[in-house]
Amino acid sequence: MKILVIGSGGREHALVWKLAQSPHATQMWCAPGNAGIAQEAIGQASRLSPSSLDGVRDRRDACPTKLVECVNISAEDLPKLLAFAQEKKIELTVVGPDNPLALGIVDLFQKNKLRIWGPNQKAAQFESSKVFSQNFMEKYGIPTARAGTFSDSIAAKNFAATLGGKCAVKADGLALGKGVLICANEIEANRAIDEILVAKNFGAAGSKIVIQEFLEGIEISLHAICDGKTAKLFPTSQDHKRALDGDKGLNTGGMGTYSPTPFLNDAELKKVGDAILHPWLRGCAEEGIDFHGILYPGIMLTKNGPCVLEFNARFGDPETQVYLPRLENDLVELLDASVSGTLDKIELKWKPEASVCVVMASGGYPGNYEKGKPICGLDDAAKLPGVKVFHAGTVLKDGQIVTNGGRILGVTALGKDLHAAQSAAYAAVEKIHFDGAHFRRDIGEKAL
Ligand code: AMP
Repeated sequence: MKILVIGSGGREHALVWKLAQSPHATQMWCAPGNAGIAQEAIGQASRLSPSSLDGVRDRRDACPTKLVECVNISAEDLPKLLAFAQEKKIELTVVGPDNPLALGIVDLFQKNKLRIWGPNQKAAQFESSKVFSQNFMEKYGIPTARAGTFSDSIAAKNFAATLGGKCAVKADGLALGKGVLICANEIEANRAIDEILVAKNFGAAGSKIVIQEFLEGIEISLHAICDGKTAKLFPTSQDHKRALDGDKGLNTGGMGTYSPTPFLNDAELKKVGDAILHPWLRGCAEEGIDFHGILYPGIMLTKNGPCVLEFNARFGDPETQVYLPRLENDLVELLDASVSGTLDKIELKWKPEASVCVVMASGGYPGNYEKGKPICGLDDAAKLPGVKVFHAGTVLKDGQIVTNGGRILGVTALGKDLHAAQSAAYAAVEKIHFDGAHFRRDIGEKAL
């Protein structure tokens, strides 16, 4: 099968790495991809043991084979992506990021009779519109925070006042993960409302807002793969959003993850999953939403029970980097079943090992940072047992892999338990160097 993956981050590297292990994959492309994706070999690693996650490269040396090809087309350039998929006769396109989904890439490819995995534009609204999601959750009884949706700043401020100003003010649309402002009092809430609705700091994404009561608890990520009728839950994972140890510093795209978390046992996870997915599937059926892809709810485990803070409509980054090394199923078969509506025939199988992903970022991230710093030690890190280094912002320049973004690498390890996975991931991080490299030293700590 000829496969095209869209995107260029650590999530897409993990998707490419796992898809490339499938015997179904014959040729693969990634648009635009990164330096790590361009090193992945196709169809060689289907029997890798957990202790040789990076065996792909060793085998490639022994037996030269086809590599994944990166093509220089932006993930948002829908006409060029379509033309490329038609020219190469791509048989399955896999969409990583949220933007192309919100722009309607799935609708466009389907109209042109191309097979593509991901939610269509209507279904992607669960992520592209927080107002849509909040209204949907309330209509179908999905546990969520007390909330209101507004386009008028006076009404918004009145509602925030009823919460004593302790709230999360959220721009409706996609805002590069920056559209959520957490407020501790009325002054902050009023300022946040003015920033989004009056000063229009997020442009059209902020023409409406959701205000949720501020919830306290443990935050976890859930993922469910869906095919329009069936939704199958993944194990839990936990992201670390803040830039600095101890959840200090600015919000980022995610500085590291681990899976599973100890906060829900299997029975509790099933209960939480059912409480969200049953009404969600019923709502989708009633509203004529045909969701094929990943539903990724962000959950707060509060003392009054779990609450959905938001829905995403794609794999998490860096959650994907800890999920896919644990997934035993063939990912091509799984995504194919999600497109076809045959997920009910597939049982998800997970390795019992734990996984940890430590993100190495550019100095200054999530603020300003420099690019073009040479990265050393990648090969040494990859030789460690159980370790896989997923690339995000990297590029090959004059034969040297250099930094090319904010988040650079997702250094991932499997271990017999969380502690072993964490030690292995940090041992690999220690082998890797680039000027200004910044990472958190406490990924997984909350669970230990
Ligand atoms: P979201 O994109 O809606 O998940 O929000 C980004 C982050 O803001 C979440 O990961 C939470 O840490 C925080 N957050 C969002 N909503 C709330 C809420 N109602 N109460 C407390 N924290 C929140």
